[in-house]
Amino acid sequence: MKTTIIRNGRIIDPANGRDAVEDLFIVDGKIADQSAFRNQKSAIEEIDAKGLIVAPGLIDMHVHLREPGIEHAETIETGSRAAAAGGFTSICCMPNTVPVNDNATVTSYIVDRARKNAVTNVFPIGAITKNSAGEELAAIGSMKQAGIVAISDDGQPVMNARVMRRAMEFARSFDLPVIDHCEDLNLSAGGDMHEGVESTRLGLRGIPASSEDVMVARDILLAQSIGARFHVAHISSQNSVAMVAYAKKAGLAVTCEATPHHFALTDTGMIAYDSNYKMKPPLRSACDVGAIVEAIIVGTVDAIATDHAPHPGSEKMQEFEKCPFGIIGLETALGLSLEKLYHTGKISLTKLIALFTTGPAKVLRLDLGTLARGAPADVTIFDTEHEWTYDVNRSNSKSKNSPFDGKSFRGGPVATVVAGEIVWRLS
Ligand SMILES: [Zn+2]
Repeated sequence: MKTTIIRNGRIIDPANGRDAVEDLFIVDGKIADQSAFRNQKSAIEEIDAKGLIVAPGLIDMHVHLREPGIEHAETIETGSRAAAAGGFTSICCMPNTVPVNDNATVTSYIVDRARKNAVTNVFPIGAITKNSAGEELAAIGSMKQAGIVAISDDGQPVMNARVMRRAMEFARSFDLPVIDHCEDLNLSAGGDMHEGVESTRLGLRGIPASSEDVMVARDILLAQSIGARFHVAHISSQNSVAMVAYAKKAGLAVTCEATPHHFALTDTGMIAYDSNYKMKPPLRSACDVGAIVEAIIVGTVDAIATDHAPHPGSEKMQEFEKCPFGIIGLETALGLSLEKLYHTGKISLTKLIALFTTGPAKVLRLDLGTLARGAPADVTIFDTEHEWTYDVNRSNSKSKNSPFDGKSFRGGPVATVVAGEIVWRLS
């Protein structure tokens, strides 16, 4: 039986309303209390957390791991190592692999590979439709049995409202949330960045905020009529958060996540024609970013998720218009959140930790994100003050497409513990 004590850290556990400088006890991969320790005769591992924050393991509900099929960009192993280095103990992987995770065979493959190679927990998300083509529903029931925690065609929206309605009916009967990448492709077609003054100035085609807004509105109305759980992926616009706030007020099971890049960067802050600033939804206006931050403060946003989207350099180094959308984000998420939300005084540490733990756990109904006795000993130890600089070439991810290369941070992860084992440590 393995025993560990994390000594003298400030334990912040939003799930249990705990905030105190105490020791945290781990026995056999689970959170224990001091009494369970008294009779321990075996060697005890000690971790000194003096001056550090000890939080429940962070959960990222939106990650692309690229395995099976696109392993030159990322694998379950490398993606999970990047997650651990970012302080995450659990990640959820989107189904847009090759083949798409639209049936139980692929789901089981991912679960099996994760068990063998991942250093964190990995929860697969199944496709809504076959091949995420938006037409026929995927094998939702059997994927649920194989271990999916939600359905999404992320990367693609479900354009046909009738198909989305059917998907919500199925999801409701299997008690799964539907996560939509909200984008009306007719409105966004051909766009490379947010539509506004900046896109005009740069001579690039724009993606209007309305391409997101109309789909968020549609899906909220469908979810209302069906009684389904609906989650907006990577919310980025002022109107979208206003509609989610409205849905919550009306008592609907509607939730949303925001990515660090959507609250940390605006379209005017992007380096022109640098594909590390090209993602979907695009970096929006200062007005939209302000609305996202406000939505985080007032509780409209349920979770911070990275949308970690690895692409190899060869693809990201083409002309801007030809580059794929997406950036990596696992290793910079906590640093960006501390900088933009905590050090600015916008939210408390408890609230920040909740957005990475109880928030996503609640959306997905995962029994995680808590330091209660008996819970899996998934723990993130981080610092709010130490200065460090992100060097993407030393990233654990196989891909290097980050706009934050060379950026200095104040505060970040120090150690990541999964089921009582240290899987990553700041060196
Ligand atoms: Zn997406």
